[in-house]
Amino acid sequence: MSIADNISNLKKETEHSNVKLIAVSKTKPVEVLQEAYNAGQRVFGENNVQELVEKQEQLPKDIEWHLIGHLQTNKVKYIASFISLIHSVDSLKLLQEIDKQAAKNKRVIDCLLQIYIADEETKFGLGFDEAIELLRSEEFTVLKNVRIVGVMGIATNTENQKQLKEEFYELHTFFNGLKTSFFRKEDSFKEISMGMSADYKIAIEQGSTMIRVGSLIFGQRLIPHWKNN
Ligand SMILES: *Cc1c(COP(=O)(O)O)cnc(C)c1O
Repeated sequence: MSIADNISNLKKETEHSNVKLIAVSKTKPVEVLQEAYNAGQRVFGENNVQELVEKQEQLPKDIEWHLIGHLQTNKVKYIASFISLIHSVDSLKLLQEIDKQAAKNKRVIDCLLQIYIADEETKFGLGFDEAIELLRSEEFTVLKNVRIVGVMGIATNTENQKQLKEEFYELHTFFNGLKTSFFRKEDSFKEISMGMSADYKIAIEQGSTMIRVGSLIFGQRLIPHWKNN
């Protein structure tokens, strides 16, 4: 299967669900991204700032770049002029720096709050309470150059479908709560970024609006799992 085939299959499979496909191209060389671009893909996700900047410089300028991995505050300045969406906001401090760099570039940067949903030890993501505390804080309300457009979550790396379903359900429910409490009047607060190669189907069933798919598009798979059923 070619990259073009993989993208086209994913698009066909998800067209009924109004979900945005983010091609996660981390570690892949620009030629490979160009191949996806030629197949019509315009949204790419990267998790490393330096790699993202290098690729952005070399590839067509109508690409929408998403940062999906952990972002250090001292690196925000490198992507602030062009980044379309930062999925991985996990602290007020980071949000303040994004706001500052966005202002320097005279723009507003869209962000998702990364919410911790997995049953795993991980360093990144906000707990439900922490996210609420951030949104309630005086420091957050004064920020003018960032816009929170939704939430992002990474489910546990497990084949337990019931558990995946519960984790995605929890994130959707939390999103609904935030919508009601903080963003009732903001139509832009509408994104739930959840689902990767192994679990995007369940994520879509649970209301995902953005799936972040890497290996299923770019990786070698002898039997792509959409052919298994
Ligand atoms: C790598 C990565 C993905 C894509 O993973 P695949 O299993 O290759 O689809 C999605 N989200 C995040 C945050 C990632 O780091």
